[in-house]
Amino acid sequence: MALTGIEIFKLLPKTNCGECGVPTCLAFAMSLAAGKAELSACPYISDEAREKLDEASAPPIRPVVIGSGDRKLKVGGETVLFRHEKRFENPPGLAVHISDTMTEADVDGRLDRCQNLQYERVGLTLRPEMIALECKSGDAAKFEALVKKVIESSDCNIILMSQDTAVLKAALGICGERKPLLYAATKDNADDMAALAKESSCPLAARADGLDALAELTEKLTQAGVKDIVIDSGARTLRRMFEDQIMIRRAALNAKFRPLGFPTIVFANEMSDDPMQEAMVAATFIAKYGGIIVLSDFQGESLFPLLVLRMNVYTDPQRPLATTEGIYEIGGPDENSPVVLTSNFSLTYFIVSGEIENSRIPCYLMVKNTEGLSVMTAWAAGKFGSDTIGPFIKKSGITDKIKHRKLIIPGYIAAESGGLEEELPDWEIMVGPREGAHVPAFLKSWKVS
Ligand code: SF4
Repeated sequence: MALTGIEIFKLLPKTNCGECGVPTCLAFAMSLAAGKAELSACPYISDEAREKLDEASAPPIRPVVIGSGDRKLKVGGETVLFRHEKRFENPPGLAVHISDTMTEADVDGRLDRCQNLQYERVGLTLRPEMIALECKSGDAAKFEALVKKVIESSDCNIILMSQDTAVLKAALGICGERKPLLYAATKDNADDMAALAKESSCPLAARADGLDALAELTEKLTQAGVKDIVIDSGARTLRRMFEDQIMIRRAALNAKFRPLGFPTIVFANEMSDDPMQEAMVAATFIAKYGGIIVLSDFQGESLFPLLVLRMNVYTDPQRPLATTEGIYEIGGPDENSPVVLTSNFSLTYFIVSGEIENSRIPCYLMVKNTEGLSVMTAWAAGKFGSDTIGPFIKKSGITDKIKHRKLIIPGYIAAESGGLEEELPDWEIMVGPREGAHVPAFLKSWKVS
């Protein structure tokens, strides 16, 4: 935010009507300055003031949307240097690189992995969302055939890569509706690329060697009317790209330097030939501050950790990661299977459910909403006691699924067993282990009667 609360206040109507949800214009100005209110909440701002405030309240790094439909990807829009200051907003897109000089088998393999490697975690589906298509052959017809094949077999967002505007224009004829990212404008083709981006309403990547040249290029593109820009500083070593990412983020946030206030693209695939090193490079730029990260291929052993890392870095640090309350059936349980209780802190859920799977004993896992707190913390906070567990068990519907009435509670809340026997008089309360690692051994001794 370039304007202070007082500067914003001077542009507001000062009628204190309260329609924006706070009692005074000054309070609204302060909320706006802190990023806690939307300008649209005040219906009485003049057009002139709105224009100034829109500009001032725009995020220091412009949000850019790539793609269309349900799977479109928003990158950029970041407002902080460090996650703990507030949160990171828009997770970077992960792209697989495919070129028109690859064999058909290589292309098919990458497409298949891109489409099918996806994972369920904390109730979310984690999967990559982009394909970077490069015209290496220089043959527009060959590239068009590749683009056609890709859009017919994948719903991923597309990056079209060529320095030749004619090649990109031909490819846009096939996939223009997908609103791909055009890569890349350089100082030599900036005018033609800007015209193509405006004509097709597609976002445009800008590539230059070094940050000064990059800022010059984005200013030129902005003046030509291109707003949605993704920037590439040209670095192809981990060290230089790392430095560039930090310089770009600092320039945009601390110095409000608009020419570098755009999301970035990082080509991890060009920084190493070793797949695991490449994954390490990608991990580095998930944390610092890639907007799009291009990989040479997706493999489960590296993609899954990258997706989980991305999810963890881009969650709100002020809100614990929580699993939805309910009954989770693990391993196909039946009416005689054990019923295990735990909290809905995601890490707890994953450890306990993982250990139940390891035990190979089918179970009902009862996950109670503890507002994302772990067992001990929730118990200490009064959110995981017999007075709340009892009603949860009664309302859960678990009694429709089982014949027995035995409930295994976490060892850390053993003190609640007496209270639970009063809350659930038909049930036998069994105190389970304190640590998840001991769950399999405990379950092996399970007997219905
Ligand atoms: Fe002021 Fe507008 Fe809020 Fe009314 S709605 S109090 S005019 S900021």
